[in-house]
Amino acid sequence: MKTVVPMPMEVLETAIRHGLSKKRTNALAAVVCGALPATIMVFQFHPAWQTWVIGLVLGLIWGNAFEYAYHRFLLHRPRTQHGAAHQEHHAQIGTPTEAEFVALISSPLNIVLLFVINGIPAFLISFLLGQLGILCGIFIGWSVYLILCEEIHWRIHMNGWLPPGLHFARTYHMSHSQQPLQRVPAALRCSPGEQRDWEKQTSCLVPDP
Ligand SMILES: [Zn+2]
Ligand SMILES: [Zn+2]
Repeated sequence: MKTVVPMPMEVLETAIRHGLSKKRTNALAAVVCGALPATIMVFQFHPAWQTWVIGLVLGLIWGNAFEYAYHRFLLHRPRTQHGAAHQEHHAQIGTPTEAEFVALISSPLNIVLLFVINGIPAFLISFLLGQLGILCGIFIGWSVYLILCEEIHWRIHMNGWLPPGLHFARTYHMSHSQQPLQRVPAALRCSPGEQRDWEKQTSCLVPDP
């Protein structure tokens, strides 16, 4: 039987279609995961507009800090499922199938998980501080952060338009994909053997000497 090999343009178009679809589904999941609990809580806690604003800012900062730590300490860790998926993300740069691997979050289910993992400590902290109303803004902040992060990341990879102040992000992100990720904490560094195995698979991680 004759096998039909798709043309590079077809591969590229299919990858972009799939990538855009993943981005849309993730955005929808992020909206639902943030807006649904926020709507329920707004009727419970009746936050003032100032509480909304503080919560929103806190949610954006929290989301950014979580993403930074998650990427730095987990995604670049060898021999983990997350590490393997992230390695694929970096390895696909410049290939016709790159768009297929751009999404930072692999499925809407993982977005639900992210909101649960972060929502529990946020609830406990705000409960202990007697500031439960702040959660409404925090949840919306997480949704906004996730959607913006996926969108900016997509544009970085797909050479899309970025606001002038964000051009450095493209350079930084792409150089991060090519250069070793250093300053990994000692507790998370791998042994020389593990390091060699990992380097065979990816050039992502080179711990400090
Ligand atoms: Zn990327
Ligand atoms: Zn990375």
